[in-house]
Amino acid sequence: MELASIGVKENRIKQFAKRNLTTVEDIQRFFPRKYYDYRQASELLPINANRQTAVVGTLMSVSKKKTNQTLMVKAKVFEPKSEKILNIIWIGHYYLYKIIQFWVKETVIACGELVYNEEYHSFHMKNPVVFDTDIDKNLRIYPVYRKMAGISADYMQNLVELSLGILTDDPLPEDLIRKYHLLPLSEALMAMHHPGSLEDVEKAKKRFIYEQLTSFALRLELDNREISKGTLYNVKSVQNVERYRESLPYELTDSQKKVFAEMKETAYNGMRINALVQGDVGSGKTVVAVLMMLSMADSGYQSVLMAPTVILASQHYETIAAAAESYGYKAAFLSSDLKASERKKLLKGIEAGEYQFIVGTHSVMADDVVYQNLALAVIDEEHKFGVKQRDRIFERSRCGMHKISMSATPIPRTLAETIYGKNTTVYDLELPAARKPVQTAVFNHDQKIYEFIKKKVLDGQQAYVVCPFIEDPDDQFPVETVEDACAKYKAYFEPLGIPVESVTGALKQAEAEKILGRFRDGEIKILVATSIIEVGVNVPNANIIVINNAERFGLAQLHQLRGRVGRGSAQGYCILKSADRENPRLSVLCRTTDGREIAKEDMALRGTGNILGTEQSGRNDEITLLLAYPNMYEYCKKDAVLLADRGMKSWQV
Ligand code: ADP
Ligand code: MG
Repeated sequence: MELASIGVKENRIKQFAKRNLTTVEDIQRFFPRKYYDYRQASELLPINANRQTAVVGTLMSVSKKKTNQTLMVKAKVFEPKSEKILNIIWIGHYYLYKIIQFWVKETVIACGELVYNEEYHSFHMKNPVVFDTDIDKNLRIYPVYRKMAGISADYMQNLVELSLGILTDDPLPEDLIRKYHLLPLSEALMAMHHPGSLEDVEKAKKRFIYEQLTSFALRLELDNREISKGTLYNVKSVQNVERYRESLPYELTDSQKKVFAEMKETAYNGMRINALVQGDVGSGKTVVAVLMMLSMADSGYQSVLMAPTVILASQHYETIAAAAESYGYKAAFLSSDLKASERKKLLKGIEAGEYQFIVGTHSVMADDVVYQNLALAVIDEEHKFGVKQRDRIFERSRCGMHKISMSATPIPRTLAETIYGKNTTVYDLELPAARKPVQTAVFNHDQKIYEFIKKKVLDGQQAYVVCPFIEDPDDQFPVETVEDACAKYKAYFEPLGIPVESVTGALKQAEAEKILGRFRDGEIKILVATSIIEVGVNVPNANIIVINNAERFGLAQLHQLRGRVGRGSAQGYCILKSADRENPRLSVLCRTTDGREIAKEDMALRGTGNILGTEQSGRNDEITLLLAYPNMYEYCKKDAVLLADRGMKSWQV
């Protein structure tokens, strides 16, 4: 059901879409990140300090204070059992004074983190999570939702409540719910958002995990049945492919040759290519894709390449358009930023078969894109796409389309076959021999980093500086933003005649593109960015990457970021800026550049917790779930066969 049906306004709908929340069902399943247990009122005792507590007492006084920097509201609450006073302060919630000044002498409840000051034997609470006169209503398990920039917690909670009022169909068949004694959808949703106990939450989670794994297993099962049917899109000619290969400035590696030869053979024989090409960053996956796309064009078909970001897609487009045009073919670029009129024109050309190569973001799979004869889809960094987008590709593949997924996060072959389906051929690409491993070190000294960059830039090289993107405005440990870092770098480098610029996800796509283009052309020497440069950006002259607050990034992400440098023949350097020298993830990174080893360490370090309540998109969650619940998954697979026999489609919630 559309979000508009519960009164969400246009601009909000856009904000939510960016986070993959597009339906009422998505909001219903916007699960709390964690819970605070406020079921019992606590006494003011030192043993209750430093944790989430609920304090019930009499409101003694309320006051307000205005300094030049902040507006403060203060309250004193007398807790009768311990006969102590709780001091509460609110910062930045000045309006509260107007309401709570009338509550003096009433019984109130304050929930939040209790702080004890040993020196003064006093108790404090800053910006309580709950402050109310309704005691019974608030002595409960309190759900904490993920914060999103630009959307207040109150708005989100109200929206979740509204969504819970809508009855939605349970995608799980009744016989399976009964068989495993699972909670039906409506009960499970209530248990996630308004649990009576933490056991309720566990029971509901179990249901959602079973549901997710079964839907996933069903998707694979249907995929499998479909793929074994073969295809009519067989490769008939490769007249330009050899010419293209000869025009490349390098020799293909043995593994690239093998992958291409095998795929060509498969499609020649009328069988379906369903491949996962995995290779560490810089292993040259793109050229393999281009060779296959060219084979399709030579055989008279269209092919599409889809990438997770506009920046990455447009980079692929440049490579592909150049290759296409030298053999008289045409390439189209589709993204959601296109003007309606331009898009219309391109769509018409695609439908008429004027374009053989189509490159873009997920918009290449939009419903209004009609292909004349789409024979191949290449999906770069497939794990970055959500389930819904992958289902779209699957829908399209029903007419025999070949599919190549590319991933720079290598996972073991058996696991790859489990999550991509047993009909998937897994290929591994080796790094071209000429590459030197990137040198990596942990530093925390700005001046030293600046001097190092200065030396390299004066030698003609370029550098990336990456800052973590933090959405939570209440973040406990603030980090340097892109703006802050850019100002610091500008102050140091611009007097030396070294141009510095920044890009963030907040910029308009066209602007970000322009800046990136100037960096690619060498006009900008130092580029400060969020991790939007993480995937696929290819600037061979950029050989230094500084990652600020490196401890805030995941291991796989750090490895991807590091892969942006050391792409040419020069030595690459990765500086992990962090005060946390002992951080295990950073040590792994300094020790090895082998993606396989890093992926293994990553799984070991992250463990298998943190299952639900995070963004439910991308392969990572599926992998995590599969590893965490191997036994349950065995049942899910059997149930999926049953459901497929019944003619049921996979669902996507
Ligand atoms: P990734 O696998 O990370 O997507 P790319 O396809 O972007 O890697 O390739 C990285 C760089 O390596 C590109 O500049 C590409 O031209 C180059 N390249 C690809 N294949 C080879 C090869 N066999 N030998 C040398 N360089 C190669
Ligand atoms: Mg790539």
